[in-house]
Amino acid sequence: MAKKIKKNVDQKEVEKFNLLAHKWWDETSEFKPLHQINPLRLNFIASKVKLSGSKVLDVGCGGGILSESLAKEGAEVTGIDQGDNVIKIAKLHMKESSLNINYKQLNIEDFFLNNKEKFDIITCLEMLEHVPDPSSIIDKCAALLKPGGTIFFSTINRNPKSFLFAIIGAEYLLNLLPKGTHEYNKFITPAELRDWCLAKQLDFKSIIGMTYNPFSQEYKLGDDTSVNYIVEVESLND
Ligand code: SAH
Repeated sequence: MAKKIKKNVDQKEVEKFNLLAHKWWDETSEFKPLHQINPLRLNFIASKVKLSGSKVLDVGCGGGILSESLAKEGAEVTGIDQGDNVIKIAKLHMKESSLNINYKQLNIEDFFLNNKEKFDIITCLEMLEHVPDPSSIIDKCAALLKPGGTIFFSTINRNPKSFLFAIIGAEYLLNLLPKGTHEYNKFITPAELRDWCLAKQLDFKSIIGMTYNPFSQEYKLGDDTSVNYIVEVESLND
């Protein structure tokens, strides 16, 4: 019997996003938080690397909120996501925005098997907390990075405060996200993420927190990494 290759994909997780894909670009929908945080994360990335003319791989790109903003800065963007509806929406919206992005419906393990090119910048935002084995994603990102390149990961920390803010607050009290969007045990502490990076000869160059103020309903970047955070990662071999 042929051995079934176990994919690093949780189909249940992918379906959550696929089912809502048609709302991806509606800034009042379940995707409002992604629209709100996008300028902040784009500013952080743009303050660390030169986007214009760079080859960027956006892993778990969803409907393309980040991919499009990177392309608008002049980056040559490839966006991959496991969700078929999600990628259809990304492709449609790219046309409406008159942008050129190379979208593919693939997970990074499959992309890696058939792809020979390497990237100056890899972004993998708000995705690691939705996959069975985040370290495998990090492994493939390391392998697809050009020497001297930079990877950006963002995810949600795991502690009582993040449980309260990211699950109870966002999903149950404020209805910012659909119930069940996030699972607490899949949240990732910065120490865990750093250990996975170090195992692939990568290390953090910087880390920044992203906080939500429920009263002003605004997000901001700062030192508080207790809930959402973004890391800038470089290779130790460069
Ligand atoms: N990175 C985007 C979207 C985040 S939502 C942004 O921040 O704007 C999480 C995305 O990860 C969804 O689009 C979902 O389909 C995708 N995803 C989940 N598991 C995946 C996997 N194993 N491979 C590729 N994409 C995956």
